[in-house]
Amino acid sequence: MASPTKRSRNSANESHGWTMRQVKSTQFSASSSQKTRDMKVKNASQQSNLETFFKKCGKLTVSEDQRTRESDKSNREDESKPELQNTGKSERDIDNSMQIAESAGCVSDETNKATSSVTFIDNEKVRHREKKEEMPLWKFKWGRLCVTDITAQHWCEQQLLYTFTIPTVPVENIPMTVGSSMHLARELEVHDVVPVSVSSKEDAWAIKLLNMIDGVSGISFGVPCIREMPIFGEPYGKGIFVVGVIDELRYSEKGEFQLCEFKSRASSRTLPRKAQRKNHALQVMIYKQLFDELVKGLLKKETILRHVKLKDNKLLSEEVLMHLRKSGITSKTFGELLDIALLKFQFSDLPCIDSLIIEYSFQGDCKSFASDKVGFDADWLNSRLDHYFSFWRGDREVEGVDIEDAWKCHSCDFSDICEWKKEKEQECLTKNKT
Ligand code: SF4
Repeated sequence: MASPTKRSRNSANESHGWTMRQVKSTQFSASSSQKTRDMKVKNASQQSNLETFFKKCGKLTVSEDQRTRESDKSNREDESKPELQNTGKSERDIDNSMQIAESAGCVSDETNKATSSVTFIDNEKVRHREKKEEMPLWKFKWGRLCVTDITAQHWCEQQLLYTFTIPTVPVENIPMTVGSSMHLARELEVHDVVPVSVSSKEDAWAIKLLNMIDGVSGISFGVPCIREMPIFGEPYGKGIFVVGVIDELRYSEKGEFQLCEFKSRASSRTLPRKAQRKNHALQVMIYKQLFDELVKGLLKKETILRHVKLKDNKLLSEEVLMHLRKSGITSKTFGELLDIALLKFQFSDLPCIDSLIIEYSFQGDCKSFASDKVGFDADWLNSRLDHYFSFWRGDREVEGVDIEDAWKCHSCDFSDICEWKKEKEQECLTKNKT
């Protein structure tokens, strides 16, 4: 069946008045047992870090701030990496094993698992590894960023760094829970979620690719919108890998291919302040850049394999293969599937994203009350990413907010201990004295 043209999609959408069709697609996801285990371990380790921290500074406050507001999306981006159920190991556990083995100068070429037999120690390699591990990118983010890490950095880089280095008490945050539920409800409107057990990192990424392939096919064949689509890439070829989840892709009534990000407001039907909206704008611009680079064929297979340390010839598990076959894909190895996914983006009739929308809903009635159209500024985004990535590479020291954004410090969890803030206050005092 020939894929419909943009015009035919518009007609379909007009006749449906842009309401959701009842035909549902499927999205694959690993179930949450490993995630729960990871969370328990994380909380236990935070608890022990806390005791040390209390001894050191004697004070810790936690409030709803930029960090907690952003963490909903950040969690979803992290959740986009399905857990590995069969082995009981997360993708991160496997990364860790690999890094330990590599730092000893010995990694098996045969499997993704770390080997225990060290045959030689390459000092140069060990030094290189140590230097790499000192980079914030590797120290805190295992070599790749979420889009929401970059938006949190845009808010305050120093605050983001504190969230990695200083333990905080997890607090019940009702607006976040409601926001997550609203996202889930939207997602379930358009597809069913099918849990899939995976036994390797390649399996986990295969699920991500399958969701992307199905999403692209759906849009090409006239599905009005796709939601929660994984996205990744190396924006502008800057050497840093970024992953994210696009809330929605759809065709607008004017026939524009549109990317939409949902944000919910807890207390009133008002738009957030300008600084917050700028953050949202940055987020959708990064999504567009990642998506367009895939459509233009700029993201190469080798780049993905290198950054995420995936094996080209790794055989996928029987369960994953079964789901691939149901989608008409006969690939057996991860590399073959990756080729198909990249070709699908490049050679289907998928256009680059025409417009970017932030849609704001009120949590009180779950209804949308405003939308912001964001203009894409490639030069601004390019220069911002240069600046942010230089921190992750360890090329510069961490920065806090500028003096005109000092108001952000009032609601910051770390304002009592923030070195950047103290330094800036001291500078002001000195200036006033002279
Ligand atoms: S106190 Fe201000 S500068 Fe320091 S981390 Fe918080 S927001 Fe950033």
